[in-house]
Amino acid sequence: MSPHSDRTRLIASATRRGQGRRPVNPPIERASTMLSDTAGAMRDGAAGPVYGLEGTTAARELRAALADLEGGGQAFLVPSGLASVTVPVLALTRPGDEIVTTDAVYGPTRRFLSRYLASRGVTTRFLPAGADADAIIAAIGEKTRLVLMESPASLTFEMVDVAKVAAACRSRDVLTVLDNTWAAGLAFKPLAHGVDVSVQALTKYAAGHSDVLIGGIVANEARLIRAIGDAIEDMGWHVSPDDAWLTLRGLRTLPLRYAEQGRSGLRVAQWLQARPEVARVLYPPLPGSVGHDLWARDFTGAASLMGVVMKGGDAAAGRRFLDALSLFGLGYSWGGFESLATHETHQMAYRDHPTPLEGELIRFNIGLEDPADLIADLERGLAAFAG
Ligand SMILES: *Cc1c(COP(=O)(O)O)cnc(C)c1O
Repeated sequence: MSPHSDRTRLIASATRRGQGRRPVNPPIERASTMLSDTAGAMRDGAAGPVYGLEGTTAARELRAALADLEGGGQAFLVPSGLASVTVPVLALTRPGDEIVTTDAVYGPTRRFLSRYLASRGVTTRFLPAGADADAIIAAIGEKTRLVLMESPASLTFEMVDVAKVAAACRSRDVLTVLDNTWAAGLAFKPLAHGVDVSVQALTKYAAGHSDVLIGGIVANEARLIRAIGDAIEDMGWHVSPDDAWLTLRGLRTLPLRYAEQGRSGLRVAQWLQARPEVARVLYPPLPGSVGHDLWARDFTGAASLMGVVMKGGDAAAGRRFLDALSLFGLGYSWGGFESLATHETHQMAYRDHPTPLEGELIRFNIGLEDPADLIADLERGLAAFAG
């Protein structure tokens, strides 16, 4: 392991020597077919991939950078962040197995577990969104094969003591998978805390410009790497060289974008928390917010995605808030350079254990705009909310 920080390593991987004269960034090789000089060379694995499905240079470099960033033995690419969750879960469970997770998990992940996976004999226990490590460990039963975590969760931002859950799972031969999208592989290192598989929607901060869908999966243990690699090969999943290349380009500036967006996020969160229209800000980096102690103990940085629970209001007031904003794009996703806002109260209806909120739930991705301008925009939004 290099002694350098993430910020240096993500760039040093581009400037390393010993490759002859070449561009800084790898070429985009669009290929199904790779040609060899001789029939014998076609069987030479050391000469590189023989078929595009194996991934060309940009994909290989991105995989190496991601494995290095997350401290894993191997990284895999899949066509979306959602697939980064579904692929290891599919690869590591069998009919009759049970998964333990919480209501706070990403919505489409929940849909996969309760629709596709359940219909194939793998059941899921959804604990309340606020379930802590002890409650998760207590829910592990005879049939539990895997515990799926997201910390903080991407809608209501609950935190879990990941190391405690991971240690308990290891002693029971239960696997752990953690959706690490919020930390972007930077602010939290799941494998170092005992997690078996770290996944993230590279779509968000890594790609960083709201123009790529891609997922990353990182593991350390040979048996897990083999199971996940076999599943990807068997199912024929593939990421285009263009998308791998754009994501690799995004990684070079990820630490700077992440740090700046986190700084602005904290400033906006502090401002929102002081407003009379706001009941609670759901943002673990904010002192006093739920999950702050675990965040302060385990994390070295902050993403810029947060939830805001309003004091009362109804769906129409929530819509007025969003419609009055001029600098926030109204759109899903996060981690890009632009600020975004969504109205999320209806998502609570899908939970097994309803989460009572004091009012409407709004979610913000704070982008790279001047935070003073964003705050002035939010002030107009709050006035419209109060109506
Ligand atoms: C967006 C997101 C995903 C899925 O990423 P896509 O690339 O949109 O499929 C997975 N997990 C979390 C926490 C996310 O926010």
